[in-house]
Amino acid sequence: MSHELFSLAGRRAVVTGGGRGLGRAIAAGLADAGATVAVISRTHRDVEAVAQELGDGVMPLAMDVTGNDPDVMVDAMEDLLGGSIDVLVHAAGIQHRDSAESFAAEEWDRLLLTNLSAPFKLSQELGRRQLERELPGSHIFIGSLGSTLSIPKAAAYTATKSGVYGVARNLSTEWSGRGIRVNCIGPGYFRTALTEPVFADEHRYKRMLDRIPMGRFGKPEELAGAAVFLASDASSYITGQILMVDGGWTAA
Ligand code: NDP
Repeated sequence: MSHELFSLAGRRAVVTGGGRGLGRAIAAGLADAGATVAVISRTHRDVEAVAQELGDGVMPLAMDVTGNDPDVMVDAMEDLLGGSIDVLVHAAGIQHRDSAESFAAEEWDRLLLTNLSAPFKLSQELGRRQLERELPGSHIFIGSLGSTLSIPKAAAYTATKSGVYGVARNLSTEWSGRGIRVNCIGPGYFRTALTEPVFADEHRYKRMLDRIPMGRFGKPEELAGAAVFLASDASSYITGQILMVDGGWTAA
């Protein structure tokens, strides 16, 4: 098999949440495979720093994915990248931990807006354009263990991560016959700002580690391969799937 199958040369990609953590690692992987990549987050200095560190072909866009009209957002991405977008990775995400019985309504709404509604609306707008222009595309949602399991004290997060897997299946069914593949990556536990409270709690850390057959947490760069695979022609007959990158957790 030729490594050309994994090449993203000439492709334009967008990674929301690319300012740090898993999104940053995914953006680095796509850029390394040859794509021109726009990295998005709300924090200007984060996306500027990522673009500077990753070098030519990685461009910063400070934007709140919940805040604008999707049409305006996709216009801004296309302007930055200089043309139609081929690959869209939805890595922007937030967490709020509380027991179900005391989960605040505004936190529920905030998580649904950021983790579920925003990625759907962005994919909807990009999908419309790709269909109109008869261009192929690869949309990649970021799920979690919570896409198929429950995460205690994270009802809204579990709902949104189950939701993006559902959206990926739906968009795939509607669009894959017209050239747009839609998949989901399901990361296990990786140490980032989002999961720091879990890692900082010795008891929880140990409990999590005990559940991972590989006996260790993931390193953000270990998501790059899955992202490049799903973005590239190497996965040309794969759509509507979730690819778990979890050290064996969900299989155990
Ligand atoms: P981080 O908190 O490290 O990074 C999240 C990124 O999303 C930041 O760059 C943040 O930047 C950006 N972001 C958040 N809200 C918005 C918004 N409204 N508009 C634009 N950008 C936004 O988290 P991770 O890297 O850990 O998580 C990335 C994705 O992976 C999330 O979807 C998360 O749910 C998922 N995931 C993470 C796991 C892990 O173990 N870390 C496990 C499973 C899934 P800013 O706040 O500056 O906008």
